[in-house]
Amino acid sequence: MLASKTFIPKIKDIPQDAEIISHQLMLRSGMIRKVASGIYNWLPLGLIVLKKIENVVREELNNIGAQEIFMPMVQPKELWDESNRWGKFGPELLRIKDRHDRDFCLGPTHEEVITDLVKNNINSYKSLPLTLYQIQTKFRDEIRPRYGVMRGREFLMKDAYSFHMNAECLNQTYQDFRAAYKKILERLELEFKVVKADSGAIGGDKSEEFHVLAENGEDVLAVSDSSEIAINSELLLEKDQDPSLLAGEEFPEGGKIQLIKGIEVGHIFQLGQVYSESMKLSLQDANSNEVNPYMGCYGIGISRMVAASIEQNNDEFGIAWPKGLAPIQINVIDLTDNLDGSAIKFYNEIEKSNFRVMLDDRDERFGKKIKDSELIGIPLNIIIGKSLKNDGLIEVCPRRGTKDLIKPEELNGYIAKFFQES
Ligand code: ATP
Ligand code: MG
Repeated sequence: MLASKTFIPKIKDIPQDAEIISHQLMLRSGMIRKVASGIYNWLPLGLIVLKKIENVVREELNNIGAQEIFMPMVQPKELWDESNRWGKFGPELLRIKDRHDRDFCLGPTHEEVITDLVKNNINSYKSLPLTLYQIQTKFRDEIRPRYGVMRGREFLMKDAYSFHMNAECLNQTYQDFRAAYKKILERLELEFKVVKADSGAIGGDKSEEFHVLAENGEDVLAVSDSSEIAINSELLLEKDQDPSLLAGEEFPEGGKIQLIKGIEVGHIFQLGQVYSESMKLSLQDANSNEVNPYMGCYGIGISRMVAASIEQNNDEFGIAWPKGLAPIQINVIDLTDNLDGSAIKFYNEIEKSNFRVMLDDRDERFGKKIKDSELIGIPLNIIIGKSLKNDGLIEVCPRRGTKDLIKPEELNGYIAKFFQES
């Protein structure tokens, strides 16, 4: 990509309406733009990161045997009547009418659609267990959308649903998801905690959340100095109680409670038979007994994860992406006289590799180019300028780390080594 042609609208000053650092940086670096409250455009740089996260999630889910499908965003009221949630779900459910005055909603989640799909298309217990997932836009009319894509109204979620003939089988898949979620967060280089959680409007018995640790997290987690298990403080408090009441108290599993802040990026549930019973999904088992299958559901906030990663990876200059997640990994900065064309050679060479590279061919000074690169968070800058002309050397300038002068023929090796080290 050429910097002069790529749509990366940057903002110099801190945007007034952005309270937290990830929101500020996503706006300033031209990753997103607001359309309406909680509703955003994703611009090229933002979309690249979103897709990278999406692909890590997709790979790990495929690895545990989940199959990708794609369900509609618009859902008919009838399905929500079957599960009794049309009335129960609060104003977060955006209800709409079509031209025939029929009721629909914008899907905040897809238990109804998927249960109906399985009900109409699976006839035998032999087809279970079955795990399906999608990566799709959700709409929740949040009372207080804020922090940019962290708490949006329209957002991208990976939601998965599993179907089983018994509770043990559900538990096995639940554990597979738990392990896959850990892998995803490790691959994305996020520091996180798994915590016991409330099942909320989704329902069911057992659930755990995955929280990325960050000062700007909206959730307060109770952790213990002597236990691996953490608990969302919501579970230990009455409504509207201040979490700080819990600090230093006994932790249920032993030890004393410490409080830390987290951003919920994932949530896994053992739903049990709630939906299969209400929506009358049943199958005969091997002994011809009718069984309502056991279900699990598993969500990851893909768009929220972009913001969560920035919360953990930033400095005074901008976004400090982990090398794998950076939307542009290498920036060739052209500082030759009148952009004489020698930088293009290096750019073309790097473009043949798998790295995503940009050529900053703009007629700007070094200071501006490097500042923009730091804001966007490009891990490696390669500067083609005076040292090439005078000494035949190119300057390699990592965003974090030490600069160096190398010979052009050393460049490929340098790049390969740089991106191997994390
Ligand atoms: P929260 O407690 O943050 O409102 P939730 O518990 O309602 O989230 P789930 O129904 O568990 O959310 O949805 C699965 C995942 O979708 C969440 O773990 C989160 O990462 C993401 N998510 C939920 N609501 C939003 C939102 N308004 N904006 C962005 N991501 C969201
Ligand atoms: Mg949740």
